[in-house]
Amino acid sequence: MGHVFPRHTKANLPTAVAGEGCYVIDQNGKRYFDGSGGAAVSCLGHSDQAVQNAIKKQTDQLAFAHSGFFTTEPAEKLADLLIANAPEGLDRVYYVSGGSEAIEAALKLARQYHLERGDNDRSHVIARWQSYHGNTIGALSAGGNKWRREPFMPMLVPMSHIDPCYPYRDQQEGESDEAYGLRAANRLEAEILKVGPEKVSAFICEPVVGATMGAVAAAPGYLKRIREICDQYGVLLILDEVMCGMGRTGTLFACEHDGITPDILCIAKGLGAGYQPIGAMLCTGNVYSAIEDGSGFFQHGHTYQGHPTACAAGHAVISTMLERNLLDNVNKRSQQLMQALTDAFGQHPFIGDIRGRGLFIALELVKNRETKTPFDPNLAVHAKIKKAAFENGLICYPMPGTIDGKNGDHVLLAPPFIIEDNHIEEIVEKLSVSFLSVFNTLES
Ligand code: PLP
Repeated sequence: MGHVFPRHTKANLPTAVAGEGCYVIDQNGKRYFDGSGGAAVSCLGHSDQAVQNAIKKQTDQLAFAHSGFFTTEPAEKLADLLIANAPEGLDRVYYVSGGSEAIEAALKLARQYHLERGDNDRSHVIARWQSYHGNTIGALSAGGNKWRREPFMPMLVPMSHIDPCYPYRDQQEGESDEAYGLRAANRLEAEILKVGPEKVSAFICEPVVGATMGAVAAAPGYLKRIREICDQYGVLLILDEVMCGMGRTGTLFACEHDGITPDILCIAKGLGAGYQPIGAMLCTGNVYSAIEDGSGFFQHGHTYQGHPTACAAGHAVISTMLERNLLDNVNKRSQQLMQALTDAFGQHPFIGDIRGRGLFIALELVKNRETKTPFDPNLAVHAKIKKAAFENGLICYPMPGTIDGKNGDHVLLAPPFIIEDNHIEEIVEKLSVSFLSVFNTLES
């Protein structure tokens, strides 16, 4: 033991040895309630028999066949299932192994789409501040998380960023939700005009922002207006549903809430539910035909794309979700969890906002509720809460605020879709104890 290169080299991590329902168990038998599904991954919990059986069956039959030589039944079946349940217009599925790879593929597909049509200057991508699209350098270029980007500047892809849709901090007094959604979306039009419409390839955003802002859903009408602007200027719309997709917000695809179809949609995490690493990029027939009718070759590819075992797992995950009506449970438990969190923390001086959609809920922490002033980032409040919760047997997903103070530390919850009443009590109880131990050390 001791040769693994961990993310935090000074961390002394316990060894996870087993998974049981909503719990992860370490080498000492300590049980951790998985209140964030790792990082919004384990949507079916850790011991789903149907998925495990599907993986076993597939490896017994054929574990791997390279996608350059073969298609496979699991890849075809999963693509059919995804498209049958996807927003109207999405027609093709390109497989990858995770979220960052899905974003890389999307950025390249958008670029190639324009090239195939003779639009050679469209290479610029517009994204949003306070977003996260992955850690590979292309995805990082798109991301608007300054502390992740700055050490690696300059970025490789020509990008610019607009301010996000963030009602808690950005909506003005007396402004309706719809008027705010429109105002926030119109920032895209201003940026396209600034860059020059003929240079812009795509706009990318998360319909519900996950890690970097904490479960912030788009205001009503925001994405509809974004769709209109993209259509008007010939810019492709890429939605990143890596974290918020696959049932997490109560519909299989998060953008169903907004009633729009993107040109390209990225999913991962919940697709494999942690049983297998798999991601995918879905695109419309229009985008696909630019390649099919043009060069006939998407200039991309990875060794493990369309991995049969991963596709068999993905198919079992979605089938299980649909057959067991788990999205109903997401919607029901979402309301319960939101209510329980509001009852417990709604008036707390250090909790500025409790928000989210489905089982994707976050609490934003502030030093002062009235002024919404975030805590000093040097206090690393998020890290203290993560540690305290973990010691109390709760896995949750606290993240730092932005380095420029544009949002506060927040705690993201994304429990498995199979949670029951007692689990909600357990989350709130463990969170209360953890908050108390950290908040007692802080001054307002
Ligand atoms: N996009 C979003 C919205 C994410 O939350 C993440 C990961 O957290 C990614 C992309 C990158 O996914 P991965 O870590 O699988 O590369």
